[in-house]
Amino acid sequence: MTMNTQGRPTRANDVMVSNVKTFTGNKALQIEEPLIFEFGDFHGTGVDLPEPEGKTDRLGGLNRQAAVGLPGLSEPETMRHYVRLSQKNYAIDMGPFPLGSCTMKHNPRLNEKIARLPGFADLHPLAPESAAQGALELIDRLAFWLKELTGMPAVAMSPKAGAHGELCGMMAIKAAISARGEGDKRTHVLAPDSAHGTNPATAAQCGFKVDSIPVDSGGRIDHEALVEKLTDEVAGIMVTNPNTCGLFERDIRAIADAIHDVGGYFYCDGANFNAIAGKVKPGDLGVDAMHLNLHKTFSTPHGGGGPGSGPTVFSEALAPFAPVPYVVFEDGAFRLVETRRAAKKTGQCAQSFGRMTAFHGQMGMFVRALVYMKSHGVDGVRQAAEDAVLNANYVLARLKAEMTPAFKDHCMHEALFDDHFLKDTGIETIDFAKAMIDEGFHPMTMYFPLVVHGAMLIEPTESESKRELDLFCDALLSLAKRAKSGDVDAFKAAPVYAPRRRLDETAAARRPVLRWTPPAPAEAAE
Ligand SMILES: *Cc1c(COP(=O)(O)O)cnc(C)c1O
Repeated sequence: MTMNTQGRPTRANDVMVSNVKTFTGNKALQIEEPLIFEFGDFHGTGVDLPEPEGKTDRLGGLNRQAAVGLPGLSEPETMRHYVRLSQKNYAIDMGPFPLGSCTMKHNPRLNEKIARLPGFADLHPLAPESAAQGALELIDRLAFWLKELTGMPAVAMSPKAGAHGELCGMMAIKAAISARGEGDKRTHVLAPDSAHGTNPATAAQCGFKVDSIPVDSGGRIDHEALVEKLTDEVAGIMVTNPNTCGLFERDIRAIADAIHDVGGYFYCDGANFNAIAGKVKPGDLGVDAMHLNLHKTFSTPHGGGGPGSGPTVFSEALAPFAPVPYVVFEDGAFRLVETRRAAKKTGQCAQSFGRMTAFHGQMGMFVRALVYMKSHGVDGVRQAAEDAVLNANYVLARLKAEMTPAFKDHCMHEALFDDHFLKDTGIETIDFAKAMIDEGFHPMTMYFPLVVHGAMLIEPTESESKRELDLFCDALLSLAKRAKSGDVDAFKAAPVYAPRRRLDETAAARRPVLRWTPPAPAEAAE
C-alpha cells in the first residue's frame, strides 16, 4: 500500500486527472454552480401563500405592470445554491490563510456568541439613548481599552475600516493645520516606499502631495533621505510600524522628533498592531494619530467574511479635532455627542472636523473586539502578539533552507521573501503561489511590498499550531526544491486541481461584467 506524506494509506495517483471531462462539468463534489438567473424559473416560487382577502389597492395607479423578473426556485434549490456558493469560498475556518499584512486569525467562537445576543445584534442605531445604555457603555469601555493599550488620550470609534481610520487621522491633521493658519503652506505628506498602498492614497484623497521616502538596504526608512525631505511645507508623515517588510522601525522616536521639529504631525498606520499589542504603547513613540484594525488585531471575520472597524487614536495635540459622534458619561448615564455644536459645549473635540459616518461605527465589531480583549486579558493580548512574532520567525527560519528571506534580520509578525531562489528557473512568484493552491494552501501575499523583487509576504498569525505550520513549511520547501529541479511546465500549469485554472485577472479588473443580461431568444439569433 502507498502512504501519503502524512502516513495515511492512499492509492498512487500520479496520473494528471485535470483533463478528464465529466458529463456535468463537476469535479467530484465540486459542483459547477450557475448564476441563479441562469437556472431560476421566472414563474416559479418557493412559497405558497393564499391570495390576500379584501385587499385595497393603495398604490394609486403605480402598480408594477410586468413581472419583476426575479428567478424563482424551490426552497431546497435555494438552500443548495447558496450553500454551494459559500463552499467555494476559502476561509480561515478551513485552513491557514497566510496573507501578509492581513492578519487572518482565528475568530474565537465566544466573540461570535456574544455578538449575536439580541441586545447587541438587534439594536437599532436610532434607538433612544435611554434604551441603548448597555451598547453605549460597551463602546465607552472599548474606547477606554484602546486608549489604554495605545497610550493615547483620545479615540474616534466611528471609522469603518483601516483605510477609513487613516482618512479620519489625516482629516484631523488637516483640520489642525488649517486651525494654525498653515493650510495653504503645508501641502506635502511624506510616505516611505514600504508604506501600505492606502497611506499615499489617503494623503492624496485629503488633497496633499505625496513625497515618497526610500527604504534602506535593511528594509527600514532611510533616515537621511527622510531628513532631506523635511521642510515647513510638510504637514505630516505616514509610517506603518511594524512596516510592510515585517520589520519594526527602530528609529521611530527619531522620526517622530524630526517631524515634530518642522511642525508636522506623525500618522502611524497601526494595522500591524497585532505584533506589538501589550508590548509597546504607540503613545510613547511620539505618534499623533493612528488607526487600529479591530478586524485584524482583535479578530473578527474580515476579507469577504464581515465588515471592518478602524478606530483612530489621537494625541493631545490632535484630540480637539477628532470627529463626532463620541460617548460621554454624565449624570449617571451614557450619552452620545453627535454634532460639532454639542462637541463645543462639552469642551472635548471642541474643534471637531465633523462626522464621518451616518451612525456610531461597527457595533458588531466593537462587541467582538471587547470580548476578545476581556477573554484574553492584558497578558493574553501580549502573548498573542509574542506568539504571532514567534510563528513568523519559525516560518522564516524553516523556509530559509530553500527560499530567500528579503532581509537578514529576525522579523516581526510576518516573514518576507524575495524571488531570488527562483532565479534562472523560469518560474515566477505567481507560478509558485498557484502551485500552493494545488497543495491545498491559500497563497501568501504576492508582489507586495513593492520594495522587494517578486515579494512573498507570509503572516501565519498566532492561531496556527506547530503542526499546521510544519505542514505548510514542508509543502513550501518541497515546492521550492521542485522549482529548482527544473519542473517549469508543472508550475506554469498550476493550479491543476482547482475548479478554475489561471484567470485573466487584468481583464476581470478592467472589463468587469457586473450585470446579467438574458440570452437572446433562439429565433432572434437567426
Ligand atoms: C489592512 C491594512 C490597511 C487597510 O485596512 P482596511 O481595513 O483594509 O481598510 C492599511 N494598512 C496596513 C498596513 C494594512 O495591513
